[in-house]
Amino acid sequence: MSILFEHADILITEENGFSEIKNGYLGVSGKKIDYIGACPPQGAYDETRDFSNKLLMPGLINTHCHAAMVMLRGLGSDLPLQEWLFEKMMPVEDRFTAPTIKAASDLALLEMIGTGTTSFSDMYFFCDATVRACLDAGIKANIARPIQCFDPNETYETSVRAAEAAELFKEYNGAGEGRILIDDSIHAEYTCNETIARAHAEAAGARGSRMHIHLSETKKEHEECIRKYGKTPAKWFADLGAFDIPAFAAHCVWVSDEDIALLAEKGVSAVHNPSSNMKLGSGFMPIDKMMKAGVNVTLGTDGAASNNNLNMFEELHLASIIHKGHMLDSTAVKCTETLRMATLNGAKLQGRPDTGALKVGNCADIVAIDLDRPHLFPNNDTVGLICYSAQGSDVCMTMADGKILYENGEFLTLDREKIMQNARDAQKLLY
Ligand SMILES: [Zn+2]
Repeated sequence: MSILFEHADILITEENGFSEIKNGYLGVSGKKIDYIGACPPQGAYDETRDFSNKLLMPGLINTHCHAAMVMLRGLGSDLPLQEWLFEKMMPVEDRFTAPTIKAASDLALLEMIGTGTTSFSDMYFFCDATVRACLDAGIKANIARPIQCFDPNETYETSVRAAEAAELFKEYNGAGEGRILIDDSIHAEYTCNETIARAHAEAAGARGSRMHIHLSETKKEHEECIRKYGKTPAKWFADLGAFDIPAFAAHCVWVSDEDIALLAEKGVSAVHNPSSNMKLGSGFMPIDKMMKAGVNVTLGTDGAASNNNLNMFEELHLASIIHKGHMLDSTAVKCTETLRMATLNGAKLQGRPDTGALKVGNCADIVAIDLDRPHLFPNNDTVGLICYSAQGSDVCMTMADGKILYENGEFLTLDREKIMQNARDAQKLLY
């Protein structure tokens, strides 16, 4: 199957920043982009589409998510963090079953695909249900079963979570023609002991996966770790070997200058989650210092419980404005940098070098924005338009691996009505 998009504006990722082809042509053959240019290509395509007044851009990559937490959306607004977590989130989470996770993951995928996400990195439980949802949908995903331990007598050998993580990797890594990758995860310093964390980093290294963690999200977490271990969470993870494999850390709000240098040295990607950090009052990631140190910074929504949606356009918007206000500097954290975080940097984090940019030979992971909207006119700066003006609802097509998943309100791989009904049924059982 091959498709040619004609008369589209096409956003090209350059070494520094982005350039644009106006009224151009982009060809997709099978899973790959096989043509980009200002003039029509030579060969014939099975299908030709007039994409006048539409912008083609790389699909968005959400690098920190707990997709199934959509079922917790809106619970406990504006409460103190501990109360929100222990009294509102956890009692409902305890009632989650595999069918709940499947229904919730499907719901999350409708939202992500409909707002231009083509790949995401997830950390939660009953992961096989989320994997199956992703396989049905045709989206790309890096899925991890996080390790936590609350029983002091637990060993790595007796850890049910460790066994599940190993099983998940064996069963699904590379599934869906490589659209599914299985990562590993140590949930956080404060939810795991050193022995089990070290053993899990070793296991992940042995099977060649990536390590997905939460890092220094709150001041309390960061300071308690220093009191308990005499070192920061970043140093704790590094000393246990978790950064000796490709790793990525969500939040990184309270990391020290030494931590930032360590992340840069070890090649650990840092995921910025502006909605979640603002909503939970966690603070501002020192993103400017991170970029200057050469850390690969990416963007994520976190779960919908602390966001409250999975719309990457909101993260682009917030990441592009909050640091300017916080630093009293309108030149800080440019939109060309945040868009790179949400695309190319995310692809690097996920270990997917053939995505994240519109380029011949890359996977056709493409989003189209409908420019024929009042709030998107005039277009004096395309990247600024994406980051400061566009909404997730401006997405008019989402394609992953050359397959159209969503177009003009219609989902082509998912049954929207059935998924909404399943979600309503799941919600009745939860509450
Ligand atoms: Zn998280």
